[in-house]
Amino acid sequence: MQRLFAVIRNVLLFSFVLCCAFLPSAAAQSCGAKGIALQVLGSGGPELQDKRASSSYLVWEDGQARVLIDAGGGSALRFGESGAQMSQLDVIFFSHFHEDHSGDFPALIKSSWFEEGKRPLPVYGPEGNDFMPSTVEIVYDFFGDKHGAYRYLSELLVPGEEGDYKLQPHNVAGTAKPAEVFRRGGIAAQAVRVVHGGVPALAWRVEMGGKVIVFSGDTNGEGAGLPQLASNADLFVAHNAVPEGVTGVERNLHMPPSVIGQIAGEAHVKQLVLSHRMLRTLGKESQTQSEIEKKFSGPIKFANDLDCFPLN
Ligand SMILES: [Zn+2]
Repeated sequence: MQRLFAVIRNVLLFSFVLCCAFLPSAAAQSCGAKGIALQVLGSGGPELQDKRASSSYLVWEDGQARVLIDAGGGSALRFGESGAQMSQLDVIFFSHFHEDHSGDFPALIKSSWFEEGKRPLPVYGPEGNDFMPSTVEIVYDFFGDKHGAYRYLSELLVPGEEGDYKLQPHNVAGTAKPAEVFRRGGIAAQAVRVVHGGVPALAWRVEMGGKVIVFSGDTNGEGAGLPQLASNADLFVAHNAVPEGVTGVERNLHMPPSVIGQIAGEAHVKQLVLSHRMLRTLGKESQTQSEIEKKFSGPIKFANDLDCFPLN
């Protein structure tokens, strides 16, 4: 009798493994099943001790992950956890090429190798300068057949062969005023040049399904381009990398809460999400929030990895 129970228990255990081992996690496919939603893949900065993936965002439409913005270190794991598939993406936009915005790009591209339904994947990002590669350059630095670090994947970059999966990198000459960069399949995107020290950097405005999401990227907030780009956005993702009162190099690279509030208020955005949270801003949320509220009266949320913001 005892043996019979043991057999039944084993059968039950085995069927549990069969049925449930391959079910997606609770987070999978729970974002953007209907309408437009923003999912934060990485809410942290470059420090690993913040226990967050670095910058990366997905825009979902009706259960499809259609737009990826940045791919910082750690974000490829979050991409998998989100339930998204690389083959669903229509386009990738990069704000700039610091590692915390681009480090997991090769991991995502390699993963896509194993997926069906391959098609061209356009990649847009800034031009280069003496210190940073351009978008075309960095894609070739990774995957070029002659000198690419991952030249064994160069087949993913060879032009031609209609309908096949190919990376299509494009340099965007950042302009002082927002300019349209991409329009296809119901997705429209504008970019504007932003100041991030000496690094060529862009902020992005993505319009889909009647909703507008704007991504500041890393910037110190100088110039009129970002408030114009963010005008009346349904959601504005701003990077909370430095606390109020910071000076020197940090202030030259990033905007403090008062500047975020100024831009969000001036642009009349409907909702503000704070991301790129670093050790120097984590734990200072109430101070950050009250600084922003001096200039912006809408809802403010502090992002965590895999947070989902539906816009319907
Ligand atoms: Zn950054």
